[in-house]
Amino acid sequence: MKNDCLFCAIAAGEIPSSKVYEDEICFAFYDIAPQAPVHFLVIPKEHIGSVAEISGENSSVVAHIFEVIARVARELGLESYRVVSNIGEQAGQSVHHLHFHVLSGRDMTWPPGWSIGQEESRRGTPAALYL
Ligand code: AMP
Repeated sequence: MKNDCLFCAIAAGEIPSSKVYEDEICFAFYDIAPQAPVHFLVIPKEHIGSVAEISGENSSVVAHIFEVIARVARELGLESYRVVSNIGEQAGQSVHHLHFHVLSGRDMTWPPGWSIGQEESRRGTPAALYL
């Protein structure tokens, strides 16, 4: 457990959360600011900063988390959902403890959070280069 890590404290039960699932390896809870009718997070109990810190030493935790995502989604009756993990500031990571967002219950666009028009004008690059 890492000092001053919000998600370590949630996994340890020190900060309350709306729990969806728990076992000895991972913890799942509803996001406090849901971005879809169903939005929960699955985190390892062990502190891992993000996907960028996954290695041969700890990747079995991620395999387990994906098994849990599939099981919980089935139990919640989710037929279609999106699993997202943000890595680093530009991708929108705000909590530096590995977590997988599971979002469901609404139409979703692809690519996520990106507008061709905005991106083209910001970078001065023809949109066609991004297609
Ligand atoms: P990210 O921005 O990808 O790092 O995701 C962090 C997520 O954690 C955001 O969707 C937040 O709404 C969520 N979050 C932050 N604090 C809490 C909390 N105390 N309980 C549940 N979710 C939280």
